[in-house]
Amino acid sequence: MSAKAEIITIGDEILYGQTLDTNSHWISGELDQLGIKVIRKTTIPDLENHILAAFAEAETRADIILITGGLGPTNDDLTKPCLAKYFGVELEMNEEALTELTELYARSGWELSELNRGQAIQPVGAAKITNELGTAPGIWLEQNDTIFISMPGVPFEMKGIMEKEVLPKLKARFVTGNIHHRILKTGGIAESTLAEKLESWEANLPSHMKLAYLPSLAQVKLRLTAIGEDLKQLEIDADEQIQKCIPLIQKYIYATENISLEERVGQLLREQGKTISCAESCTGGYLSHLFTTIPGSSDYFQGSYVAYSYEIKEKALKVDHKLLTEKGAVSEEVVIQMARNIRKVFNTDIGVSLSGIAGPGGATPDKPVGTIWIAYSDANNTFAKKFIFAKDRKLNIQLSAIVALNIVRRNLMP
Ligand code: ATP
Repeated sequence: MSAKAEIITIGDEILYGQTLDTNSHWISGELDQLGIKVIRKTTIPDLENHILAAFAEAETRADIILITGGLGPTNDDLTKPCLAKYFGVELEMNEEALTELTELYARSGWELSELNRGQAIQPVGAAKITNELGTAPGIWLEQNDTIFISMPGVPFEMKGIMEKEVLPKLKARFVTGNIHHRILKTGGIAESTLAEKLESWEANLPSHMKLAYLPSLAQVKLRLTAIGEDLKQLEIDADEQIQKCIPLIQKYIYATENISLEERVGQLLREQGKTISCAESCTGGYLSHLFTTIPGSSDYFQGSYVAYSYEIKEKALKVDHKLLTEKGAVSEEVVIQMARNIRKVFNTDIGVSLSGIAGPGGATPDKPVGTIWIAYSDANNTFAKKFIFAKDRKLNIQLSAIVALNIVRRNLMP
């Protein structure tokens, strides 16, 4: 039987809706990959009675209890004193943790205050878990066959501790046999449509394999997990299933490894020796930002204009004044001119343009909030597509850029 885990996130700010609990989401995904079952997640306030009660309850059910938050040195950080109370032990200075902390402060040129020294105090009997990315070490305690792991609430510190220390230890202790993952990254298809297309293939998967749908904005990552003893055999089995799956959704797959869409588009442009430029209106440069997050993007990304106003669309991108006034900036004709002309201005193989109503204002009866036109232009092919996305401005900006990337990708992948 697989090990059972519970996650306890501590913090008033999560309960007040000020902080989204991304920690438990991330931890669940990581444990799932190891075949460790997360059976419950609990969020509790920074209050001793709630923390102690959550520990006691979780211990009745779980082999592993992962706790985030409240590990700092200030008075409202109660996790350490609560762990000490729960285990019936004192708090003491952990010399190993203090040495690490002293070295970290010395390296950074900071002064180690009394408050900071307090970070190295831990319940007696606890093993410290090194935190390379912050000052609060994690804590590992065990009793009655249950492991308590306490980590800082700061997401990147928690992830660093999990990846470097906790996950390898849990894997060594609880995972017998091997796990093999295969990834398919898809764009331009909704999760439900994907699930329909894969329904019968998924239903016929062998019992040692399972498929996870991991959706994000306009994309779905498929993760096929094979669990068993013989790693070589798992690789063969997973490959056989992936080969059956690919033809069912071929045109939506942009990668068979865990890379982003912008990374994949960059790879394709580089492989094909092509360059690209963007003319962005409603996205305000977000598409260009995505391109330039990829190291080495200067090989293919030439630049962009953020042509937000009518005036700049006319002056910089030579969009016809008449078209703008008659059809409006959010129109097929205008985005096509923008894509064609940016390609000429920057002398690139491909030009992409976006113009839309991100919201919340600016809508007209025939152009509701979320109406976005995206155009693509290369030497042989110029076209525009209209989308109606969401009511939310930020979401519209992000969706527009990702959908534009996918349009470029589809044109580069025959
Ligand atoms: P530190 O002493 O370094 O602040 P801590 O363990 O005391 O660490 P908290 O004070 O609880 O951590 O939270 C630190 C930051 O991490 C806050 O900005 C908080 O909003 C964020 N955070 C806490 N818990 C979560 C969570 N479950 N998901 C996402 N962010 C979180």
